[in-house]
Amino acid sequence: MSTVPVPRPPSHPIPERKPLQPVQLLRVECRAGIEDVILGRAVLVIVSGDATDSDTAGYWLKADVSHTGHIVSWQLQKFATGERYNLPADCSSCECADHVYREERPGGCRHMVAMRQAVVQLGRMASGDDDMVEAVAGEGDEPVDLDQRWTLAG
Ligand SMILES: [Zn+2]
Repeated sequence: MSTVPVPRPPSHPIPERKPLQPVQLLRVECRAGIEDVILGRAVLVIVSGDATDSDTAGYWLKADVSHTGHIVSWQLQKFATGERYNLPADCSSCECADHVYREERPGGCRHMVAMRQAVVQLGRMASGDDDMVEAVAGEGDEPVDLDQRWTLAG
């Protein structure tokens, strides 16, 4: 008959939480072309928060490319702290604590959300440069199977 909630055991320190909200990013800028990304000198800027209280984080962005010229993963290294996160080419997971501990968050962590947008931006930039890239990322922010869609010449 009691409606008193049963206390969680001390071994379960994570308190009750509201359902996880998708990451909302104000802006994502990838200031680079595809060759910058491959050489590891691209910069990814992630702006989160809202118009009055925003937080800007810069990352070095590098693509790991297989010997056949396909992007196999992305490396993000945060400017301020040097923290590194690896994401697979389709941005379907991330090594950061947010994704590891809140894997059920719709759309994933900020890095996954930002990288999907960055991939689209890179695709737009690359679409005018047929020598570098044959195919470009898809429309919208749907996850893109880069290994299928990106083919580097040479
Ligand atoms: Zn992450």
